[in-house]
Amino acid sequence: MKKVPLLSGSNLMFSYPGSRQKKKALEDIDLDIFAGEKVGILGASGSGKTTLSLILAGFEKPSSGLLLFNGNRLQGRKAYRDYRLRIQYLFQNPMGAVNRYRKIFEIVSEPLIYRKFKKEAIESIASEMLKMVGMDPLRWNDYPDQLSLGQIQRVCLARAMSTGPEILICDEPFSALDVSNRGKMEEILLFLNVKHGVTLIIISHEPKTLLHLCYKVLVLHEGKKVDLFDITKENDQLSEYTMKLLNQI
Ligand code: ADP
Ligand code: MG
Repeated sequence: MKKVPLLSGSNLMFSYPGSRQKKKALEDIDLDIFAGEKVGILGASGSGKTTLSLILAGFEKPSSGLLLFNGNRLQGRKAYRDYRLRIQYLFQNPMGAVNRYRKIFEIVSEPLIYRKFKKEAIESIASEMLKMVGMDPLRWNDYPDQLSLGQIQRVCLARAMSTGPEILICDEPFSALDVSNRGKMEEILLFLNVKHGVTLIIISHEPKTLLHLCYKVLVLHEGKKVDLFDITKENDQLSEYTMKLLNQI
């Protein structure tokens, strides 16, 4: 029996409303993502990575094209709302994604309160998640301004994971981090994939990072898909553009 992709996009197009540019932000993107996969989206700045990730996350609707979750078309408010409960998104700028006036523990508890979990469950899940991302309990009552960007990024990851998402989308998750925090973040993401079976979609402009973390890589250039390849297989058909990117490593 043929496996049904967890998430499948076909002919995805996107233009920003009111955008003066004639060029579409995304054109004709096809992508199948299976449960448990680690998929990288690679491309230079402005190639459409964030736009595609926002569509895959259900934050933006494609201008045209088809998006399927577990084989069902994502269409209409209810389908999108249900979908949004099953995926989580890590924003590129972690500081912009947290309320500076909330303590770390409260930030991680937020989605659980929204989902009407009981107080004890919230405390136990939020503690577990903060431990999982390696946050020292002595910091749980700190405010974001007292933490480093790397620590805030991990708080955002703890918050994202507290709801048990099936898919985690990370937009340039390492760009704000120094080398040691980057290593920690990579380790946690791989752990989430192996141990919790979370499907990972990781966006980066660095081929090296994605080749290290992902098996499947989609390469975007000016809003178009130039390649989609499996790094474990022979890839003798790659475009010149991708070859150039990979040769920079
Ligand atoms: P990347 O994440 O790869 O840097 P983006 O998805 O952010 O690329 O951008 C893709 C294209 O869409 C670029 O040409 C960019 O200028 C344009 N774009 C991005 N965000 C907006 C926006 N909010 N309004 C108009 N155009 C946008
Ligand atoms: Mg971007």
